[in-house]
Parts: sequence; C-alpha cells; structure tokens
Amino acid sequence: MLSGMNEEEHIKENIRIADEALPNSLTEDELKLVERVADKYRELMETGCTGCRYCMPCPRGVDIAKCFEVYDSAKLFNTGTIQSKVMYAAGLGVMNDGKPGFASKCTKCGKCESHCPQELPIMDLLDDVSKEMEGPLTKIIPPIFKTFLSIQSYRNNRKAKNLE
Ligand code: SF4
Ligand code: SF4
Repeated sequence: MLSGMNEEEHIKENIRIADEALPNSLTEDELKLVERVADKYRELMETGCTGCRYCMPCPRGVDIAKCFEVYDSAKLFNTGTIQSKVMYAAGLGVMNDGKPGFASKCTKCGKCESHCPQELPIMDLLDDVSKEMEGPLTKIIPPIFKTFLSIQSYRNNRKAKNLE
C-alpha cells in the first residue's frame, strides 16, 4: 500500500491507523472487496496516476499530474471529444501563472520517471495525452479563457468598489 501524505493531518491519521490496525484484521470478504475495487480502478484509469505530484516539478513546465487528471477524466466519464479538449486547453493552458503545462512540452529528459511511486511510463503516457488531447483548440482556447477571467476579475473589482 502506498499512502500519500501531503499535510501534517495525513501523517497523524496514518500514525493513528498504523497504531490501531492489527495484522490480518480484514476478513476474507473485505479483502475480496478491496481487490475488486482495485481491479475496477485499474480498469477505469487510463494512466494509473494517483496525482501525488512526486514527479514534479518538470524542468520544461509540464504539469504531469494535471495532464493525466484531465486525460483520465475524459476517458472515465466518456466526455465528448470537443468538451474534453476544451477542458484540457483551458486547464493546462492557463495555469502555472499563465505558463502552459501541456504534455507536448515534454522533451523526454527522463527526470520524472524515477520519482513515480507507481513506476508509470510517464513519457509514453504524455505522448498519448498529447496525441489525443492537443490540436487547434490548444491554441485557440487559452487566450479566450484568459480574456474571460480578466473580464470576470474586472467586474468583481467594480462590484467590490461600488459596495465600499
Ligand atoms: S521527461 Fe518530460 S515530463 Fe518528465 S521531467 Fe523530463 S521534460 Fe518533464
Ligand atoms: S505520474 Fe506518478 S509521481 Fe507523477 S503524479 Fe502521477 S502517480 Fe504521482
């Protein structure tokens, strides 16, 4: 079992569980259920990425975890092709302080793969993401999305000033 810990609370919770849990405390039925859930998870997740982000930062600025998250969601929920590509372009194109984190920015330096606890073939998977999710929308959507966010921010500021 790999238990990712990103906050102090996670460490405390894991210590408490490790303290209370006894060896072989799960019943046969519970073990089978765990196995069934794990099988289903593996079947549905295209990449197998857990989003732990241990592979990051990437020197080229690829947001590896986000690339896989959007790609897996697109596969899992079978969202339409256009919808998925718009989500990918907006999510990856307007993040990291405006620096795009698209899969196609990967130069295959190999730095990330040795850090992945799931031993995922990150470079090959990013190739798949790039081929399936990127295209003309990757260029068109980010500036539109940025303009939309600027307008929203301008409106919110004006509202706040009018309330003063
Ligand atoms: S292999 Fe690609 S994604 Fe991984 S660190 Fe290098 S450039 Fe970044
Ligand atoms: S690719 Fe591996 S290290 Fe990176 S976020 Fe996913 S599971 Fe974690």
